[in-house]
Amino acid sequence: MQTKVDVLIIGAGPAGSTAAALLHQEGFRLLVVEKQHFPRFVIGESLLPHSMDLLKEAGLLPNIEQQNFMQKGGAVFLRGTETCNFDFSSQFTAGWSYTYQVPRAEFDKTLADGVAAKGVEILYGHGVTAISFDATNATVTVQQPDGKLQTVTARFVLDCSGYGRVLPRLLALEEPSHLPVREALFTHITGDRRPAGREEGKIWICMHPGGAWIWIIPFSDGRTSVGAVAEPSFFADYPGTPEESLRAILTSDPNASKRLAEMKFLFSPQRISGYSCAVKKLFGPQFALVGNATEFLDPVFSSGVTLALASANRAAKLTARHLRGEAVDWQKDYAEFLMQGVDAFRAYVTGWYDNTLPQIFFAAQKSPDITRQICSVLAGYVWDTSNPYVSQAGRALPLLAKVVRAPSP
Ligand SMILES: Cc1cc2nc3c(=O)[nH]c(=O)nc-3n(C[C@H](O)[C@H](O)[C@H](O)COP(=O)(O)OP(=O)(O)OC[C@H]3O[C@@H](n4cnc5c(N)ncnc54)[C@H](O)[C@@H]3O)c2cc1C
Repeated sequence: MQTKVDVLIIGAGPAGSTAAALLHQEGFRLLVVEKQHFPRFVIGESLLPHSMDLLKEAGLLPNIEQQNFMQKGGAVFLRGTETCNFDFSSQFTAGWSYTYQVPRAEFDKTLADGVAAKGVEILYGHGVTAISFDATNATVTVQQPDGKLQTVTARFVLDCSGYGRVLPRLLALEEPSHLPVREALFTHITGDRRPAGREEGKIWICMHPGGAWIWIIPFSDGRTSVGAVAEPSFFADYPGTPEESLRAILTSDPNASKRLAEMKFLFSPQRISGYSCAVKKLFGPQFALVGNATEFLDPVFSSGVTLALASANRAAKLTARHLRGEAVDWQKDYAEFLMQGVDAFRAYVTGWYDNTLPQIFFAAQKSPDITRQICSVLAGYVWDTSNPYVSQAGRALPLLAKVVRAPSP
């Protein structure tokens, strides 16, 4: 194990691997410390097209393209007999027309192996347990698999620990999310009766009549990820074992029940709740928070991995400048940049749960231009401020909902 590095990266998920790849290209000495052994399961399996730009820039896209993951060409929202089908080939922002649906065990291992193959040291089974700072360095305590502690000195630390939220916890940076507590119950299945052609790989988001929403994410090996998201009171209406509860939810939605009539669960459904989170600040003199260690909103628009990659991309570039002795305005160039994307998605998440977006999605009349603009947000292009449904989303969405609600003259 190296004990003196330029950058120590906590976590080898998508954020950690992307940051490592970019900093390695710049010639810095790196150490990635990962608590688990890969492959390991993590939720978050549907990418957005903008993630392709970010993987390409990190030099990791060829590794992903070799994996034969399911191509995802869009997102379909379903409510009873109504359907709203977004296709990423029809977008306002010039960008990728597809991305992938990825079992995260394979996806994250592919990225981490790609980074290791470039020459970056990744220590698996090693967890960061403490940190202290002096004027120039961070001293990081790492617990080895045998339980022994080792210290590493780093000029900068990127916290890419995702749900581990290592620095937010160690430095007391945690803030409660303003979003209500929601819960997800999910598993992988076989027996998914998929649509054919380009439609096969799209994510389905079904609005359950009882107030939940359901994801259906098809993988290329025949497995499909399914899950239900709602406030905890919804799940109280579906008692029993996790299997019984999830099965009852899926079979009581008209669209999911048809598609999943022959489903077989591959593992006992897992539950995760209270996952929305926020932090007081995103950086300090010798550290930055990246990916899910920052703020996590909600899974409905599959934005998590794309935001993780975008924040890693930006943090890695700024870290390189900082280490070269250049002045870096982390507030403007990192925090405000990242919040621009997060806030655009926040407007859509809010609109989803307050029924603004469903009114727009399932309206009888739709403007093709506006549909393309909204499609670009769903594709992750939330830094394209020439798109009014990015730059003014908080105002534009309620206005549009009002227009589509109005009776035609
Ligand atoms: C129900 C649900 C559904 C979701 N669906 C989607 C989706 O469809 N699409 C999408 O893009 N996103 C989705 N997300 C979000 C997605 O899971 C995350 O945004 C994404 O995994 C963040 O990546 P990351 O690299 O920041 O962190 P992670 O993927 O969590 O990786 C962090 C790594 O850090 C390691 N680590 C933790 N603690 C330590 C420590 N002390 N020392 C060393 N290493 C440590 C962990 O072992 C882990 O490997 C979903 C989230 C939820 C809750």
